[in-house]
Amino acid sequence: MKVLPKTQFGDPILQTRAKDVSTSFLKTTACKTLIKEMIYTMRRAGGVGIAAPQVGKNLRLAVMEMRPTPTRPHLERRGPVVVINPTILKLSKKTVSDWEGCLSLQGVRGLVPRAERVTVEYTNEQGERVTEHAEGFWARIFQHEIDHLDGVVYVERMQDMKTLMTVDEFKKRVVKKR
Ligand code: ZN
Repeated sequence: MKVLPKTQFGDPILQTRAKDVSTSFLKTTACKTLIKEMIYTMRRAGGVGIAAPQVGKNLRLAVMEMRPTPTRPHLERRGPVVVINPTILKLSKKTVSDWEGCLSLQGVRGLVPRAERVTVEYTNEQGERVTEHAEGFWARIFQHEIDHLDGVVYVERMQDMKTLMTVDEFKKRVVKKR
């Protein structure tokens, strides 16, 4: 299995609204391979999600997978889930701030306010249109990945740029205090 090369913060593809995935492309071996390689790339990088623009593909496609991590040992296991042509139907008014990182902007973390709950409609790997209600960190991953499909990186969602810090500093100042 191939680890896909990742585009990095500043690359115009991360600043562009991605194109819808067509039904015909969804059925191709190329699409199935891309999905498998994106899941593999996400896992190898220790990420909880990756969007197609992050691997240089201008497509409204993302994969997500949640599991306990060293800095978030209490996360439950969810996924892997393939999210194609998603639409956010509803965002809760209530927002929560939590730490985010990004495989396109490695080595830093920042505090990002997001809706606590989200309702998303998307096409799954089987080509079915599904509606999902998500909350907590899973809802955060949805919002982070869908932002990528709209050309938005999490730092643009930050309210306090002073919370942008290196992973080392994050471990010292945030993880230790939990
Ligand atoms: Zn990201």
